[in-house]
Amino acid sequence: MKTQNKKFPQDLLIFDAHCDTVHDLVDPSIDFRKRKQGHVDLEKIQKGGLKAQIFALYVNPVYAPHRSIKKALLLYHTLEKKIFSPGYGIKVTSTAEMDSALQKNKLACWLSLEGGHIIENSIEILEFFSSLGIRSMTLTHMKNTGWADSSGDSPRWDGLNALGKKIVARMQELHMIIDVSHASDKTVEDVLDVTSTPFMASHSNARTLCDIPRNLPDDLIKEIAARKGYIGVNFFPVFLKKTIFDQVSKNVEKYEQKHQEILQGKADDPDFVSKAESELFQKYVKGSDTVDVNVVIDHIDHISDIGGIDCVGLGSDFDGINSTPSDLTDVSCYPVLAEGLALRGYSAKEIQKIMGLNLFHFLKQFDP
Ligand SMILES: [Zn+2]
Repeated sequence: MKTQNKKFPQDLLIFDAHCDTVHDLVDPSIDFRKRKQGHVDLEKIQKGGLKAQIFALYVNPVYAPHRSIKKALLLYHTLEKKIFSPGYGIKVTSTAEMDSALQKNKLACWLSLEGGHIIENSIEILEFFSSLGIRSMTLTHMKNTGWADSSGDSPRWDGLNALGKKIVARMQELHMIIDVSHASDKTVEDVLDVTSTPFMASHSNARTLCDIPRNLPDDLIKEIAARKGYIGVNFFPVFLKKTIFDQVSKNVEKYEQKHQEILQGKADDPDFVSKAESELFQKYVKGSDTVDVNVVIDHIDHISDIGGIDCVGLGSDFDGINSTPSDLTDVSCYPVLAEGLALRGYSAKEIQKIMGLNLFHFLKQFDP
């Protein structure tokens, strides 16, 4: 690290809105205390000063339409077994519970669902997951669900269909947080139309700086911020820089060819497909250019310029991405980001907001 800047605040609440670590932890050989690979483990968390994390229960859409619930429950069980039972972290469902976990010096763990296909088109299942203490849900992943369009798929419902509108209305009643990362622009516009509460894009970047459908256009950044919502900046180089996205796009044909070869006769086994897709993702969804922390800060700069300093924060996507900025290689590197913000001219108070306070205050609006 470079010399300490005077403005760098020492006692930071570092709080990140999205990681896919639980997906890795299902593997019995992986120990949460210390991993050979991966972005998030206890040792790295302590080194980087991470205090709180929203852990996504990510289920590959290949489990849809009828096998997602079981997978999500296995992920939930994994969290209990590998993080909560041994006492490495405490499950929290409100900012009061988070405060109490922090006082005990424990990692405060919020839970979310990624994505909306997990509830298998059922409002009752949504209610069930909410009763488990899962506080948010991305409406989609890379594919359309039975009720919402994704930014990664061709439009099917023109945003939210009638069931989708009922689902987001029910989420609002349940004080469950609507997460629009991965959703299409029209889906986000429909959420704005049919709800009145704040919502978030837990791991999305600015389209003005990296022009891809997965990122947010300025008008939606403005609307989310005006709702007192939250936008977590994603560290995936493919979503940070268009040239890297374009390099990856060139591999799509190869990816799809391999995908077809590998899945021949096995497309019916979602565990097999999900594992094969993870391996193909590792191999083919990578560009040759690299970025460093400054590109992450460019996105933070832009989102705060458009939406104000209170709407932006972290949404690393750690353990859901196969490459990172060169100096933000895992969760132990958060001080590099805080220091980068100080060097960019952010005040201590602004750095505190970006590194975690904004997310805390956003979630406080949903406390019972
Ligand atoms: Zn995601």
